[in-house]
Amino acid sequence: MSIQMSFLGAAGTVTGSRHLLHVQGRHYLIDCGLFQGGRRMKELNWEPFPMDPEGIDAILLSHAHIDHSGYLPRLVRQGFQGPIYATQATCALLEIMLPDSAYLQEQDAAYANKTGYSRHKPALPLYTAADAEKALGLLSPLPFNQALSLDGLEVTWRPAGHILGSAFLEFHIAGLQVVFSGDLGRYDGKVMQPPAPGDQADVLLLESTYGNRLHSDDAIQDVMVEALEHTLQEGGVLLIPSFAVGRTQQVLYHLRRLQDQGRIPQDLPVFIDSPMAVEASHIYCRFGDDHNLDINLLMDERTCPLRCRETHFVRDVEESKRLNTRPGPAVILSASGMLSGGRILHHLKWRLPDQRNALLFVGYQAQGTRGRLLLDGAEQVRIHGERFPVRARIFQANALSGHADQAELLRWLETFSRAPQQTFLVHGEPESLGALQAKIQQDLGWETTIAERGTTIDLSAFARPTEDA
Ligand SMILES: [Zn+2]
Repeated sequence: MSIQMSFLGAAGTVTGSRHLLHVQGRHYLIDCGLFQGGRRMKELNWEPFPMDPEGIDAILLSHAHIDHSGYLPRLVRQGFQGPIYATQATCALLEIMLPDSAYLQEQDAAYANKTGYSRHKPALPLYTAADAEKALGLLSPLPFNQALSLDGLEVTWRPAGHILGSAFLEFHIAGLQVVFSGDLGRYDGKVMQPPAPGDQADVLLLESTYGNRLHSDDAIQDVMVEALEHTLQEGGVLLIPSFAVGRTQQVLYHLRRLQDQGRIPQDLPVFIDSPMAVEASHIYCRFGDDHNLDINLLMDERTCPLRCRETHFVRDVEESKRLNTRPGPAVILSASGMLSGGRILHHLKWRLPDQRNALLFVGYQAQGTRGRLLLDGAEQVRIHGERFPVRARIFQANALSGHADQAELLRWLETFSRAPQQTFLVHGEPESLGALQAKIQQDLGWETTIAERGTTIDLSAFARPTEDA
């Protein structure tokens, strides 16, 4: 039986998650993510897809984050018409995230044309709002833990605890069991439940984002307090770059806790500068079984653990612009999380050159992004073709990222009843991939390979001989 896997993205990188599964002439795309980061990464989204998108039979998504879903409208624009399977909460989140992603693509292109900073003339959007709408029309929501039968395989979505609706995928293909981890959450996350145990896998695809790091948990709130104390003393603004979905809710949760404990002022104004954030919070109410929060508390604005006492949701662009000149102290949360686009760029232009302000990173900063440059101590950054000096203080709290660290990845691997024949490491940068590979081999003795983008592996070689009773 012919079973192959092509690694098309998030292989040697953390974005652009795309793996193509070929089963007896059928083609299933696992995740359909956008490459994000610097110009070189973004260019990858413009490369032709390695097969005619019309020939893909179905797309199976692990979760809603754009680096796992944001290429959907592009594939649809190029002719994909099949079903897109994902969990119910993932589909609900995509309803707000894909149109937003399209809006950003269109904005970027318009801005590039206005200022002439793009190399492409005229700059075109990767896809439009109409493409995003078409992609949404193909969504097919599924419950967790229920097998879906497709031609040549069965697939089940299991809770991964990373963001609302996030799953790892369990495949049964003839005698072969394949598990794709998607993005794995944390074991003691306050908002999400821990990942479900793995069972059996002949072939495992494992994310490696924090494969070389351990998060320290007590430090989250301490780092937040430290960053806030700086801005409060100076009367500055604390900028927190964050995806509207997942991380923003984690940040709000911790800010609220700090207020309830009296560690930060009750009247500190917190602005959520994202048109998506309100809807995202409502989706947490709709899917009460998927997370740890008390639905009764969530429903009431005064008690909602995903709100600070003075929370302001900023929807329209004019309101967002008015924030630029607003005096501190204040907290502003805005996307994108890696400073690769979105409204955060305008806030950076205003706030970075002023030493009274601070920037708190709460998520992974991929190589080549402005976020990584700032973490590495850049003294100036380029935004929309202009240079800005960095005088604001930079803080970092990785433990909020919603990704398992090295110990938690290993803990999840230990839930498998036996060693897979082969484990492929995906979704990581070279240092974390190498460190995780060494750790797995040393602690568990598993056969582990770092997946390479553009390669195709014959999976049928890993099928176990049928064990006749
Ligand atoms: Zn994710």
